[in-house]
Amino acid sequence: MHELSIVKDIFDTLSAHYATKIDDIQKIQVTAGLLSNVQPVLIQNAFDAFIADNRQYRDMELEVIVNDIIAHCDHCQKDFNVQYHRFVCPCGQPSTQIVQGNELFISKVIFKQHVS
Ligand SMILES: [Zn+2]
Repeated sequence: MHELSIVKDIFDTLSAHYATKIDDIQKIQVTAGLLSNVQPVLIQNAFDAFIADNRQYRDMELEVIVNDIIAHCDHCQKDFNVQYHRFVCPCGQPSTQIVQGNELFISKVIFKQHVS
C-alpha cells in the first residue's frame, strides 16, 4: 500500500529531525498537491493504522492540506489554476508547466504544550 510507505517516510523524517522530541509532537500537517497521487482519506487511514501499531504515537493527529494545481503560461507570463486537469490558461494557450501540485511535504509540526 502506497500510503503506508508515505506515512513511514513521514515518521522516518520526523525521527531524523526531532529524535526524542518526537514523543512530544501533538499534530503534524502534511501538504499534498493534487498531482502527488496522495488521497487524503487513504493517508489518514494509513496514519491511523501506523499509530495503532506504534503506541507511543497514539495521541498524534494528522491534518492533510490539499494544494491546487497551478501552471505557468509562457504566452501571458501568468500562473493559473488548473481545474479538472484542464491545462489551458484563461488566455487560451495550453500549458503543462506545473508550478504547484506535485509536492508532498510536512508543512507543520505542533508540539504539546507543557503546562508547568
Ligand atoms: Zn496565458
